[in-house]
Amino acid sequence: MIPVVRIGIDDELAARLAARTAQLTAAGAGTAAARAAWRSARVEKAGIRDHLVRMAPGVQRCMYCGDSLGTDIDHFEPIREFPGGTFTWPNHLLACSFCNSNAKRDLFPRDAAGSPLLIDPTRDDPAEHLRLVLRTGVYRPLTRKGTESIRVFGLNRADLTRGREVAFATRAAVLCKADDFLVAGRAEEAGRYLRALAEEPHASVLHEMLRASLLPGAVEVLGPDVMAALGNRTLIEVLRPGAAQPPGPAQPPGPAQPPEPAQPPERTGPAAPAPRAP
Ligand SMILES: [Zn+2]
Repeated sequence: MIPVVRIGIDDELAARLAARTAQLTAAGAGTAAARAAWRSARVEKAGIRDHLVRMAPGVQRCMYCGDSLGTDIDHFEPIREFPGGTFTWPNHLLACSFCNSNAKRDLFPRDAAGSPLLIDPTRDDPAEHLRLVLRTGVYRPLTRKGTESIRVFGLNRADLTRGREVAFATRAAVLCKADDFLVAGRAEEAGRYLRALAEEPHASVLHEMLRASLLPGAVEVLGPDVMAALGNRTLIEVLRPGAAQPPGPAQPPGPAQPPEPAQPPERTGPAAPAPRAP
């Protein structure tokens, strides 16, 4: 799981959602009525989905597992718990059918004060609650919210841990190859590899590799070749536009903006082509 930046919705959709919410409130709607209203809201759901797809990591990936196609609009706080939030934009996330319908369902653990014990990637930084062990693909909890998120979303199910383990190996290979291309002056090919990397499933793996590269002992985790590749400022600039600029005001976190890695011995290559707009 990586941070997701929630975008604003257009005025027409905002008005439709506000009208739906007002109807539910005026009717004192409970769970059944809210679910019925949601089922009939074809135009609103299409608009919500359109916005969520633009926010999702990779190519429309699930905002929880980061692996499968995001097919469902998930109510972060389930309709059963919060019927009045059925049409509330900040309560909508894009999830795959497994995470939404098989794993999370109506589960919504809270602490004693009533605060959610699930990670909302549009509000929380998942890295504060979860640590991804790159070599095994397993998430370790750092907090109670991390523990409950692993349990409820099934983040350590076998297909996901294997997928992340494999992704770590392929990400490392692509980074090293892209670095070789840059050093050889083949910027176009390097740019193509790096842009493809940004659209792969399991975005959390590259995110964690860049985070880990900042820490003591990074070379033991990532290996000397990957650390050398991540020392190439041109490569980092393609992966994370703006990263090679001098330090300036803090930037908000985003799915395509993993942390800037520490700099091992500097390597530069010819300028790479500008990355595509998302
Ligand atoms: Zn999922």
